[in-house]
Amino acid sequence: MTRIVFIGLGNMGVPMAANLAKAGHEVQGFDLVAANLARAAGHGVAGAKGIEDAVRDAQVVISMLPAGKDVLSVYAQALPAATQGVLFVDCSTVDVEAARAAHAMAAEHGMPSLDAPVSGGTTGAEAGALTFMCGGSDAAFAAAEPVLAPMAGRAVHCGGAGAGQAAKICNNMLLGISMIAVAEAFVLAERLGLSHQAFFDVASTSSGQCWSLTSYCPVPGPVPTSPANRDYAPGFAASLMLKDLGLAQAATDSAGAATPLGTAAADLYTAFNAAGHAQRDFSAIIAYIRDRQR
Ligand code: NAD
Repeated sequence: MTRIVFIGLGNMGVPMAANLAKAGHEVQGFDLVAANLARAAGHGVAGAKGIEDAVRDAQVVISMLPAGKDVLSVYAQALPAATQGVLFVDCSTVDVEAARAAHAMAAEHGMPSLDAPVSGGTTGAEAGALTFMCGGSDAAFAAAEPVLAPMAGRAVHCGGAGAGQAAKICNNMLLGISMIAVAEAFVLAERLGLSHQAFFDVASTSSGQCWSLTSYCPVPGPVPTSPANRDYAPGFAASLMLKDLGLAQAATDSAGAATPLGTAAADLYTAFNAAGHAQRDFSAIIAYIRDRQR
């Protein structure tokens, strides 16, 4: 049993903290929104009055927050209040620079730390089947592994500080590009008179095969569990895809790389979000592409 503090009890944080409690850990949670604390309490997560209070007796501090600035502000509050040697694990998706800054802050206070963003969404969080992409020292990763286990299908140690965020950003840039590519292929197939099922049956067993097609198919029918079958209720909201593509573009600039398709994907999702679709699943981009071509 480990005393864990979980900061950020949103759509992802509640089921993640719930799985830690279910595994027998003593979990205290904190969120700025009282309703989220109450929701977590229903899953065995004790509500904390504030961050400083909560972390005082903690052995591990986990955060799951919207953006880099939130992580840095939570770390500024939590680090001075925690006992030296407490492990800090940030699971939020944030920019690589903020992740590295969070590691540096933790090191200044004598705390081991890990950036550990996740893939798998809310269903993966509920099932305890997330993929964790971890950046930090070998020792921090080894210490985190048993704590991550009840939330994880898999945890990959990607490298030093910020390497987890780098992997997450590159993966999601690939996902955004591949969803647009699959959507364009379906729209062209429609224009050429192919049925969705016929095109799916060929592409899913041919060289066009990819996750966006076979697990998250953007048209209803071929993959019954995909959001297209429930009018594109998320799933993974277009606003979150745009956030990740923006992080990828920021990383592209700071690394001096060229990602022309990543840039095009960010532009398309910017327009799609601005057209009022931010809360739809990101696979709904197919309707936007279909309309543009008319
Ligand atoms: P969310 O907005 O539902 O939850 C974030 C929570 O953090 C909110 O409850 C908010 O009140 C709380 N919060 C913000 N600032 C705080 C502070 N200073 N102290 C305490 N609590 C604070 O977001 P989410 O969907 O749970 O996502 C969390 C992170 O995980 C994001 O970085 C997101 O990009 C990433 N992510 C989300 C998904 C997904 O499918 N939802 C998948 C993978 C990764």
